[in-house]
Amino acid sequence: MTTRIDNVYYLKPEQANLTIAASDAKRLLKKYKDDSNVLPEYCFLRDLEEKLGQQTKDKIKCQCGTQSYGNAKFCRECGTKIVRKGPADIEIESIDWHDDEYNSTAADTFFPVFVKEIVPCLQGHAAIGVTFGDDDIEWKTAHALIDNGTLTWCELQLVPGAEAPDFEADDLYEAGDEEDENEDEDEDEEEDNDLQVVRRR
Ligand SMILES: [Zn+2]
Repeated sequence: MTTRIDNVYYLKPEQANLTIAASDAKRLLKKYKDDSNVLPEYCFLRDLEEKLGQQTKDKIKCQCGTQSYGNAKFCRECGTKIVRKGPADIEIESIDWHDDEYNSTAADTFFPVFVKEIVPCLQGHAAIGVTFGDDDIEWKTAHALIDNGTLTWCELQLVPGAEAPDFEADDLYEAGDEEDENEDEDEDEEEDNDLQVVRRR
């Protein structure tokens, strides 16, 4: 029997404000990213790599006023060393930590890596849900608060007063980028596409 993590997510994404120091993100990625037994396939830490890479490619103006290229180390006009100061903190937009199918990497590494190594580096606050299960038979969700480097497991308390959900879903087919120029024509096809939409989900 394998326990798998199906999803780790922000309960209220609009209220989550976790950040990680760029230096911590770099250090953790360097330590773990090439070891597929440590970082699961879907992993917010992996997603930060792109942001870190972006940051070193930003154009920087030299003190002489010349704009540097890509990741140039010296100014092409005056030869002055170019100092790159990326943002010190990186926003964590999702808290993804899960595998495809029946892999168990996410579950195996959740406590030793996510909780023990990564969470202590997170600043800010977020409520998260962790959906996990045994071979698709029974899914459970655990909830936790991450608060300036500490993770605390929590009971969910329901408080009356929320607005009812709105289930008027967008047509996923139409929202795709394939045909966004012919919006009028798409409307005639809407009904035919419904079945396809369901399958694609
Ligand atoms: Zn210069």
